Amino acid sequence: MSNWEDTFDVVCVGYGFAGAAAAVAAHDAGAKVLLLEKSTHPGGISICSAGGVRVSRDADATFEYLKETNAGTTPEPLLRQMADEMARIEPFIRDLATVNDAEVTTTWSPANYPFSGGDSFGFVSVKSIPGFDAVRDFTWGMGMRGGTRLFKVMMDSIEKRGIEVRMSCPAERLIHENGKVTGLVAGGKRIRAKGGVVLATGGFEGSPEMQMQYWQEKPVYSGAYLANTGDGIRMAQEAGADLWHMWHYHGTYGLRHSDPEAHPYGIRLLRLPDWIPGADGAEAQIQNFFSTYNDALMPWIIVDRFGKRYMNEYPPYLQDTGHRPMATYDASNQCYSRIPSWVIVDEDGRSRGPIGFPSYNDPNCTFKWSEDNLAEIEMGILHQADSVEELAQAIGADADDLQETIDRWNAACRDGNDRDFGRLPATMMPLEKPPFTYGQLWPICANTQGGPVHDAAQRVLNPFGEAIPGLYAAGELGSLFGHLYMSGGNLAECFIGGKRAGEEAAAVAAA
Ligand SMILES: Cc1cc2nc3c(=O)[nH]c(=O)nc-3n(C[C@H](O)[C@H](O)[C@H](O)COP(=O)(O)OP(=O)(O)OC[C@H]3O[C@@H](n4cnc5c(N)ncnc54)[C@H](O)[C@@H]3O)c2cc1C
Repeated sequence: MSNWEDTFDVVCVGYGFAGAAAAVAAHDAGAKVLLLEKSTHPGGISICSAGGVRVSRDADATFEYLKETNAGTTPEPLLRQMADEMARIEPFIRDLATVNDAEVTTTWSPANYPFSGGDSFGFVSVKSIPGFDAVRDFTWGMGMRGGTRLFKVMMDSIEKRGIEVRMSCPAERLIHENGKVTGLVAGGKRIRAKGGVVLATGGFEGSPEMQMQYWQEKPVYSGAYLANTGDGIRMAQEAGADLWHMWHYHGTYGLRHSDPEAHPYGIRLLRLPDWIPGADGAEAQIQNFFSTYNDALMPWIIVDRFGKRYMNEYPPYLQDTGHRPMATYDASNQCYSRIPSWVIVDEDGRSRGPIGFPSYNDPNCTFKWSEDNLAEIEMGILHQADSVEELAQAIGADADDLQETIDRWNAACRDGNDRDFGRLPATMMPLEKPPFTYGQLWPICANTQGGPVHDAAQRVLNPFGEAIPGLYAAGELGSLFGHLYMSGGNLAECFIGGKRAGEEAAAVAAA
């Protein structure tokens, strides 16, 4: 077809880790590359992340772990390839980091669950970059800074290679001829991609409409980024893609800002250490995860709209599965009785330190959580009640039921035994000292995992398992993780899948 307005070998869509890794790999394989980004600023969800890329020191053991945690939702050849690549990806990242003399560290730290192979894992991350200050230099993002440092490495790598980047240039539609993707429309132009289009547009964190269709619990609030509106999913669908893992998201519970226009993001709660349930004793395991904090005390409990606890508020990997118990539909009462829920702390808990931990990529947001939670009470994100009775009235629960919940919790703290939901004693704090601080709690999505199905070469597949020529997907768009996520797993996919997709498309262009 003629009337192309631009021609490249490979077009990568989305300037997060996956799109950047694909662009670098395609360029280094000899391709002329275009990198497109919809937003005015790069980084997507990637800059909000902790920046830990999971790697492996034993591919066979890693494969066993990935099989367990995917529970049949992802074909084994893909998991095998993922395991092999996790054992090989570190030099790629270290090599990229030479661009700005970043200091890269590798730490060996087991994966989240006590399955076979869990101790084969580590993290690669960027510890520091000379002259770079994540807070000062990335004014549009607020996150865990490790992701920002790693992203700075990618930005400098793109720039050093002279890869053409078009910001504020959303990909709108793929162009396909005779079943083959040959280019796309972006920024109003028809752009030819001789070797293929790599979709790395993230997920659908910013699409409440898609969430309504795929997720039982609702509403769910995006915890970091709103420009990922499922564009890549729709474009791939139009080209004939099958979808997978649409139900699955990396999520937790959290608060909402009292002014959602100023701060439209869900706010995750204080990041406490993860822990691994295990035969050695969970208490011992949690010790291994101490980082910023001297203990793992979680000052809150969570109750439903009837004032009753319903979950272990501190599951092994809270930032991944914390939202799942909220999804239950209460047919007897014809409502989601856990959405919203209520988080409650007493005065000792309130004064311990910040309860909220916002993260976002958004130049219009400036919100930071205060050290003592008082500004958030002032703003109406949190509220206070002087007694359990007053608290019950405020949340619409029966006062006797709420009193019973709190009495039972305090007794469990005294006994060091939460018979109801098995919270670890090391995490338990009683609710004794008024005033009680409380807030509405919602399911929060950090990032989605669903999207187009792909094969080991990142080629997008149709519902019959056939590759759609010219179309690749990378990153969290169609993630491999379909059952239990692994901390650091998404970034591993960004680098492994992005690199492979870029190389594959470059090879097609060169053929
Ligand atoms: C607080 C937080 C902490 C996290 N920590 C970790 C961690 O330590 N390790 C880990 O593995 N994972 C972590 N994650 C998850 C991880 O950050 C993401 O899954 C990953 O960064 C996604 O990368 P990506 O490149 O696929 O998508 P993104 O980084 O979101 O990039 C997608 C880009 O595509 C752009 N885009 C969308 N549509 C279009 C379009 N039509 N045209 C052009 N561009 C478009 C978007 O604007 C965006 O810039 C964390 C997530 C959060 C929220």
